[in-house]
Amino acid sequence: MVKRWQFDWTTSMNYEISRKFFPKVNRERQRQTRTKSRKNLQLLAQAATGHGLFAGQLSKWHDMPATCQLCESREAIETSWHIWHECEALEVEQLQRVAAQGPPEATEQSASDKQDQDQIIAYFRLDRIADLMERNSMTIETLKELRERESQ
Ligand SMILES: [Zn+2]
Repeated sequence: MVKRWQFDWTTSMNYEISRKFFPKVNRERQRQTRTKSRKNLQLLAQAATGHGLFAGQLSKWHDMPATCQLCESREAIETSWHIWHECEALEVEQLQRVAAQGPPEATEQSASDKQDQDQIIAYFRLDRIADLMERNSMTIETLKELRERESQ
């Protein structure tokens, strides 16, 4: 019962995040996705589904705080959406991204789809964000090792 609830909740949360990143699903976007490298695709998936190396997600399985490590706000949960849109520590990066984007009506839908994906990838590859994800990855590796050692 609890598991079922958890599943529904997680699924709807993920759907919610994906919808924020990709409000319109279409074939052109699917086609564009196929041209991306494996590494970039993984990054895109991590960002758009929220299933990524972000503390908000990792803290569900690992003993670590869910709060954002960049802005160090005590309330902000570190999710891909927070990093993308809300994190005050990344204000400059967010403004640069929006400035580069231009007005949405200036582009054809198909072009803006490719642009959306490239922008998401480029943004999450910025040093500060890539470092954060790398750090999170190392943290869970360390926690796993500790747990294994304890169970021996
Ligand atoms: Zn933050």
